[in-house]
Amino acid sequence: MSATAILRECHRLRMHIRELLAEIDRGPRLLREQQQELEHARAAHQAHYEAITKLKLKQREDEGTLKQTESRLAKLEDQLTSITVQKEYTAKLSEIEQAKAKKSALEDAILATIMELEEKTAATAAVEKQWSQAQEDFQRFQLEAAERLERMKNDLETSQAELARYEAELPADLKRIYDSLVKAKGPDALAGARNRICQGCRTAMTEAEFGELRRGEYRICTRCGRLLYPLE
Ligand SMILES: [Zn+2]
Repeated sequence: MSATAILRECHRLRMHIRELLAEIDRGPRLLREQQQELEHARAAHQAHYEAITKLKLKQREDEGTLKQTESRLAKLEDQLTSITVQKEYTAKLSEIEQAKAKKSALEDAILATIMELEEKTAATAAVEKQWSQAQEDFQRFQLEAAERLERMKNDLETSQAELARYEAELPADLKRIYDSLVKAKGPDALAGARNRICQGCRTAMTEAEFGELRRGEYRICTRCGRLLYPLE
């Protein structure tokens, strides 16, 4: 295998390793995003039942107040019959009107609460379905993420071993240059050249220079300083 063919493999592997490392790095953030979604679903599920509890409590309270208002109204109407003074009679009538208005408002409120409760209760099945779907999605994500991580770690190990084997095959003088360039720039220390053009900086080399490259002699791009290898 020529030195430049080895460089091509080293470049491919180094780029692949960089992508793998970046993807492995993204794992914890993706997990946090999924956890947040699960927490949102959990909160929505909980809020649904809390709303029902609250509505039931409001209904009970309003019904209690309605009962009090009704008995007060009965008492006021009863009192009305024994009043003989016109002024007192008018005042009592006004009290009765107020009690009636309160009774009517309470009845409306209770009806609205009952309707809202019915709506909420009817939505319970859908809420439960959403919650179980969210839990299922999260579990599947965790499982898939674990499998993906395992795959990437295996790939990383294999690629690193393969890279080391190729690098060991580089001629000593090239290896020294390669090592120092790669130490500074990682995979970007290398570039392919297609039709005399450096793919790192799009600069063209002479036909003679490209010919050398194709014969397996390495060269460094005069513009961007990348170690070059020929591409088909
Ligand atoms: Zn270049």
